[in-house]
Amino acid sequence: MKAYTIIPKPRSIQYKQGNFKCTGIPQINVSAFQQEADVFIKQIQNTFGGQAFSETTDGITLMKADNSFGDIHKAESYRLEILSGGIRLGAQTQTGAFRGLQTLRQLFLSGYQNGELSIPCGIIEDFPRFSWRGLMLDCSRYFYSVEFIKKLLDALSLQHISIFHWHLTDDQGWRLPVKQYPLLTEIGSRRNEHRLWGSVTGGFYTEEEIRDIVSYAAQRHIEVVPEVDLPGHASSILAAYPGLGCTGGPYRVEDRYGVFEDVLCAGNDGIFPLFEAIFDTLAELFPSKYVHIGGDEVRFNRWKECPRCNKRFTELGLDNYAQMQSWITVRLAQMLRDRGRITIGWDEVLENTGKFPLPENVVVMSWRAQQGGAHAVSIGRRTIMSPQNEGCYLDYRHIDTPEEIGRLGIGTIFKGYYMNPITPQMSKDEASLVMGGQANLWSEVIYAGKIAEYMIFPRICGIAEALWSDEKTKDIEDFSKRLAVHQDRLDRLELLQYRGAIQ
Ligand SMILES: [Zn+2]
Repeated sequence: MKAYTIIPKPRSIQYKQGNFKCTGIPQINVSAFQQEADVFIKQIQNTFGGQAFSETTDGITLMKADNSFGDIHKAESYRLEILSGGIRLGAQTQTGAFRGLQTLRQLFLSGYQNGELSIPCGIIEDFPRFSWRGLMLDCSRYFYSVEFIKKLLDALSLQHISIFHWHLTDDQGWRLPVKQYPLLTEIGSRRNEHRLWGSVTGGFYTEEEIRDIVSYAAQRHIEVVPEVDLPGHASSILAAYPGLGCTGGPYRVEDRYGVFEDVLCAGNDGIFPLFEAIFDTLAELFPSKYVHIGGDEVRFNRWKECPRCNKRFTELGLDNYAQMQSWITVRLAQMLRDRGRITIGWDEVLENTGKFPLPENVVVMSWRAQQGGAHAVSIGRRTIMSPQNEGCYLDYRHIDTPEEIGRLGIGTIFKGYYMNPITPQMSKDEASLVMGGQANLWSEVIYAGKIAEYMIFPRICGIAEALWSDEKTKDIEDFSKRLAVHQDRLDRLELLQYRGAIQ
């Protein structure tokens, strides 16, 4: 008998005699979860063509689960019964039902041969280890199309990814329309590619496109968390509004990569109305209670030489210029709290906070290894782990060979699979502050959707399993066997993927 080979590995599988067999696509009987069933049907039809769901009585039944369905108390849990007489999916929540349907989608993707569906019988009971299972896509360094993002969301949902972290602004391009600051998109969204014979590239997402992506993701039970990087990585803002910098410019939307000296002027009160306008826009367009403010890689040299920043420095009675960033972080977090939102920042927001402590509800995203996250939970802050040295940076090469795409380091599938957001040193209380983890795709050298697919798949599968499945049952041999089958499923979704060694 063939095993299910599901990724991420479910909590419990109990195999039964026989197979569920069907010609064409079985009918779905819905007593609950109609929306989830509709998305599932669309996804299946996208892969297998437009054929209608067949009129069999022994099809798939979706139902609100009752107590007889075992461990269903957790928000994303589901129970899937595959028997020769039909398939039954029970869940308490819409999200649980959708996760169960994605497991079934995997079995469909690997179970069809020549129009015949055959799935071994069994009972799957499942729920996640962490609720935050994310992917970050950098849409500043490369401007990915709406169509690509939707394709990606459909592919991510197959592995129960729950968060799409949308990196919307950086030195190389501003992608968010802000009504009161039209030059952010008019000027800040386009750059001269000096390396590419002077061509101009870029773009931005319209409000309509943003709402479309947020709703498309929500139908797949993926939450979209926007990021606007402040007060560093701000060349695109400065190119549009040079008065907000310390020197007044000239500035340009960067076509070089790296960390730049020019940041927003901390002594200029004009930065605060800008922040208010940005956050009003985000609050209007994104229902997520989380907003990511960046806060990474801020250089302080311009502040040291700026009369306005020095005036601010004296007024605040600071000891060093880095404290001015923590002063700004506190202001940003307060503005977001006023809008009912929770702030997320990269782990630099933990630094130089002696004078302006990190507000209690700020979530720390730990990227420079896991120490930032470990420190955050030790002072009672929540954290999300995306350590660059633990396989979570998908702009790294898959393996150590110059023929692979990528930069800065190596992040094997193996590494991501073994990433554990809870470090051995954490106490039980500290561990309870770990929300989960995510993979990040920075796009300096990922200049096409197809290349992004190659960098994301199948690494995201290992990370999804690290965040969903039981840590105690990790087994790379077992994972790699399942992955071999799963990669054929990903082929059916027409994703370009890495096919080489996993460690
Ligand atoms: Zn200044």
